[in-house]
Amino acid sequence: MLNELVTICNDNGATLVAVSKTKPNSKITELYDQGQRVFGENRVQELVEKFESLSKDIEWHMIGHLQKNKVKYIAPFVSLIHSVESLGLLKTIDKEGAKHDRQIPVLLQVKIAQEDTKFGSTDTGLIGMVEACNDYKNVEVRGVMGMATFTDDMKQVRSEFKFLKTTFDKLKSDYFSDQASFKEISMGMSGDYKIALEEGSTMIRVGSLLFGAR
Ligand SMILES: *Cc1c(COP(=O)(O)O)cnc(C)c1O
Repeated sequence: MLNELVTICNDNGATLVAVSKTKPNSKITELYDQGQRVFGENRVQELVEKFESLSKDIEWHMIGHLQKNKVKYIAPFVSLIHSVESLGLLKTIDKEGAKHDRQIPVLLQVKIAQEDTKFGSTDTGLIGMVEACNDYKNVEVRGVMGMATFTDDMKQVRSEFKFLKTTFDKLKSDYFSDQASFKEISMGMSGDYKIALEEGSTMIRVGSLLFGAR
């Protein structure tokens, strides 16, 4: 499965994030030995433990809900935080980035699932983050991330991915046109990564297809 996913990603110019949450180091090492270097976790403690015990050339991505008071534990080493969903969190990441004299790469999480109340309406939280990010010298906003509704209705999933792509394009032209590093659209998981790539994903986050059910 890894080779198949890597090929699809290469064909689409996308990055494969292997989502290793709840899986033991031995499983991660199996994929590492086949060349995979980018892994995603959704809990801070697990992320830190795995970072400390595994090879230092792994790029660790934080993909889950992140509490402000836990940013400090991952600030020294995290390669990308996908799930920045509030101005307060962005500000905290900036502060912790400054302590470690680094720019922490982040994605702004966009509410794309139709069950989210902000779907389709002006997301003031998102705009607030975008407008503030020039003030935050220790974060680097690399793009957006979204999670589609958990449903078998692939038409709905596709329309939510289209919405994220449109949102990305609009932010790019309105706010980030001179920033080449604003280029990532993190969307697509085990059940919907093919649709996500068709709709312009640059980063898919795949867990169960690679590691088996959790
Ligand atoms: C768990 C998780 C994934 C991977 O889900 P699979 O369906 O196992 O591929 C992707 N993104 C986020 C944010 C997750 O929490």
